[in-house]
Amino acid sequence: MRASRYLIATQKETPSDAEVISHQLMLRAGMIRKLAAGLYTWLPMGLRTLRKVERIVREEMDKSGAQEVLMPAVQPAELWQESGRWEEYGGELLRMNDRHGREFCFGPTHEEVITDLIRNELKSYKELPANFYQIQTKFRDERRPRFGVMRAREFIMKDAYSFHINADSLDETYQVMHRTYCAIFDRLGLNYRPVQADSGAIGGSASHEFHVLADSGEDDIVFSTDSDYAANIEKAEAVAPAGERAAPAEEMTQIATPDQRTIDAISEFLNIDATRTVKTLLVKAEADEEGNAGLIALILRGDHTLNEIKAENLKGVAEPLTMATDEEIESAVGCKAGSIGPVNLKVPVIVDRSAAHLADFVCGANKEGYHLTGVNWERDLPLDRVEDIRNVVEGDASPDGKGTLEIRRGIEVGHIFKLGNKYSTAMNATVLDENGKTVIMDMGCYGIGVSRIVAASIEQNHDDKGIIWPDAIAPFQVAIVTLNAHKTPAVAEAGEKLYEQLQQAGYDVLLDDRKERPGVKFADMELMGIPHRFVISDRGLAAGTLEYKGRRDADKQDIAIEEALPVLA
Ligand code: ATP
Ligand code: MG
Ligand code: MG
Ligand code: MG
Repeated sequence: MRASRYLIATQKETPSDAEVISHQLMLRAGMIRKLAAGLYTWLPMGLRTLRKVERIVREEMDKSGAQEVLMPAVQPAELWQESGRWEEYGGELLRMNDRHGREFCFGPTHEEVITDLIRNELKSYKELPANFYQIQTKFRDERRPRFGVMRAREFIMKDAYSFHINADSLDETYQVMHRTYCAIFDRLGLNYRPVQADSGAIGGSASHEFHVLADSGEDDIVFSTDSDYAANIEKAEAVAPAGERAAPAEEMTQIATPDQRTIDAISEFLNIDATRTVKTLLVKAEADEEGNAGLIALILRGDHTLNEIKAENLKGVAEPLTMATDEEIESAVGCKAGSIGPVNLKVPVIVDRSAAHLADFVCGANKEGYHLTGVNWERDLPLDRVEDIRNVVEGDASPDGKGTLEIRRGIEVGHIFKLGNKYSTAMNATVLDENGKTVIMDMGCYGIGVSRIVAASIEQNHDDKGIIWPDAIAPFQVAIVTLNAHKTPAVAEAGEKLYEQLQQAGYDVLLDDRKERPGVKFADMELMGIPHRFVISDRGLAAGTLEYKGRRDADKQDIAIEEALPVLA
């Protein structure tokens, strides 16, 4: 590709509304442009990388024996009514009507469509197991689309669905998919971890997420330092041995559960996504003078002192949270408003991930601070050090009893799931077994965030000059920068010759033949993250040399022109 004929849409300025580095760099390197919230156009430079990610995913899925299909993005409501999800799915589902008033949705996922297809196509156990995948645009009306393509509303997913005669067969394919995902993320050059995930909500029996480790990640994942244990925070909490948890005080009383409106208001105020972090914590607190015991739980998040919360910001929001008048508190917990007597409340609180915890913990609080009790620890924290809760929890022991736990941030790039027979039962997806008996199929599903991977890779591979692509997904592997070629025919010629030669050898090459200053060209190639760069100049040619620099190299080197190909190998 000749840069003079290509959309090099680089920008110097860091866009003000881009919070994370990958979003900033994707805009600055001319990879994407925003159309509206959560909707992005992929420019030529970005699309090349996206396609390379797709290709790796496709190659490994094909190798695993999965068959590629392409299902419609728009799905009829009837299928979702059959599975029960038309009612359940909530605000992320984009619903629409056609001209006849029939209801449809833009698919956020495809369990219903594939189950409908397969119940009609497959008749016998002999056709099983079978695994079908697609790489396709999904739409989820995310509450908070952000970080560019990392949490978009329209995005590209690889989704696969497997069908089985029994649970053993599902288990086999699940393991194959686990290995396939590792092969994919290895090839993509990502620093990632597979972690156990909680499968409770869908009712499946096993689930793993694949997380790219990055501080900007929205999930907390929990590792053991001394064993293979790794889980996402929800799973880690779910399996913490109940017997070892701090015993809830007997007189725990459920005061109130916040309604959705309250949760929305609180999460907006606290600037957190509370959709999955609302939980009922056991909080042993002391009421303040006004009996606002429940509020103490809220300051666990760390940003707000009780007085701040009370004074201003949570007026009208906090109330429904405690939902207790002085009289109610008094009668529920025997604490008189205005007194400082201890109260034991079971209070629904919003727990931000910065206060991530591994088990319900009992928190005793008074005017000086908190007394926290977790699975294996007890700690006093002064009021102004609540952010230390995260550190306290990190030192906790693991659910498997070995080693010390560490909590790191992760970006979920893949998710595999044993669905069991949830959809096949609801939609009556059956085959005949060996004895001619009708049996419900078992199912698995396997997702990869193809477009999210592009951003996740940048989170792990960048410096102050820009992106540093691994060769496997670089839009171009090699840049040839010619200096003053329009004035020096020999330079132009040498550039063309090397361009031909490298293309012949199978490289994706960008020939920077633009009439730009050398500094501009170098800065662009670095910003765009091209892994290898050759510079051809008048002076170099006179000496029979080129300049070579790898994107991660500290220094450039002069090499003989004939060395260009070998230096790349
Ligand atoms: P998240 O927890 O980030 O919301 P999810 O668990 O809802 O993701 P899945 O239903 O497991 O997502 O979908 C499979 C994959 O699709 C995810 O692992 C993720 O990589 C990708 N994905 C999900 N939502 C988005 C999004 N809004 N933008 C980009 N990629 C996404
Ligand atoms: Mg989601
Ligand atoms: Mg998730
Ligand atoms: Mg998921």
